[in-house]
Amino acid sequence: MISNRELFLKNTAQTSESPRLIEIEKAEGSYLYGPQGQKYLDLVSGFNVSNIGHRHPKVIQAIQHQLEKYLHVTVYGEFVQAPQVQFATKLLANLPPSFGSVYLTNSGAEAVEGSMKIAKRFTGRRQIIAAKNAYHGSTQGALSLIGGTQYQEAYAPLLPEIDFIEFNNITDLSNITDKTAAVIVEAIQGEAGVRVPSKEYMQAIRAKCTEVGALLIFDEIQTGFGRTGKLFAFEHFGIVPDILMLAKGIGGGMPLGAFVAPKEIMDVIKANPMLGHITTFGGHPVSCAAALASLHVILNEKLLETVEQKALLFRQGLIHPKIKEIRGLGLMMCLQLENFDQVYNVSKYCADNGVMIDWYLHCETALRVAPPLTISEEEIIEACDIIKQGIDKFC
Ligand code: PLP
Repeated sequence: MISNRELFLKNTAQTSESPRLIEIEKAEGSYLYGPQGQKYLDLVSGFNVSNIGHRHPKVIQAIQHQLEKYLHVTVYGEFVQAPQVQFATKLLANLPPSFGSVYLTNSGAEAVEGSMKIAKRFTGRRQIIAAKNAYHGSTQGALSLIGGTQYQEAYAPLLPEIDFIEFNNITDLSNITDKTAAVIVEAIQGEAGVRVPSKEYMQAIRAKCTEVGALLIFDEIQTGFGRTGKLFAFEHFGIVPDILMLAKGIGGGMPLGAFVAPKEIMDVIKANPMLGHITTFGGHPVSCAAALASLHVILNEKLLETVEQKALLFRQGLIHPKIKEIRGLGLMMCLQLENFDQVYNVSKYCADNGVMIDWYLHCETALRVAPPLTISEEEIIEACDIIKQGIDKFC
């Protein structure tokens, strides 16, 4: 019989010459399981998705409940679907009052596309400013905001009138002017290798956008839903963005994204022309039911309260002369090594010894550590020991 691994290589699209090829049979809590009984402690969380762990019982229950009622019924924005309405309402209740409207999408990239569109329409301006080394997704609009020339050149032409500033550089903010429709930044640059900006920088960017009438769009696709110890990372900086983009951890493991804005900004897609952003599957009722359950879990199980302590345990457990720096906020962490060979070999050693870690798109010299927020203290200690063993062996 042809194995799933062979069929994967033969029949499904490959995105690199060297996929990791780890086969997963089941996932539960902090663990992934392979078909031959392999067990991996997951420090990647499906790239910041499984914030409440895999297959949380409350999420499974909500999905099952919704399965009994309906799946897809119509395109987004026409029928009143309780899971969408209930989730949007709960989300807004946990955001500052300036946010008044939620558009539910399929993915993070679609949230980015929608945000750019409403910013252009609302301001009547065209220029969008993004940050160097950013990552906002892989559709052509989102890719236009990627702050690295490799992808820009390979897929040119991308969107016009996109300009770049240095992330966390206050001087560069002078490039934001009254021609700027929006400034799009990650709350913490993830794929750049977890670059945490200063509070001063974020406050300056907020002030500059307000001064020139540009909208501040925050990408919280990696940082949202408790990852950094607050429900949303903007809370660390004492500012409120104009538009918030969400995905990944939003759906408790189901595919969902959202962009959230004040009502008067969102309303620009209603007319001239109408249906300014449409999507068939965006806000799928099963995903929304899962998202509502997941948000309840984060709040009711008080997951935010333990993030800082768990992050500290990682930082204490990962003291090693070959780890040059640990960057991050909460359980969004990055271990800086010397080169990609080390990163690759340590990741492989960890996987072979039951701990899943990875690296970053724009920073292949650092290890990605972003476990489920539900990870236990014993699991953290176990993970740190395996990582340090790998580092002893390969660095
Ligand atoms: N923004 C950030 C910061 C991301 O990390 C990602 C995905 O990794 C995206 C946007 C795009 O999200 P999606 O893959 O759901 O389109």
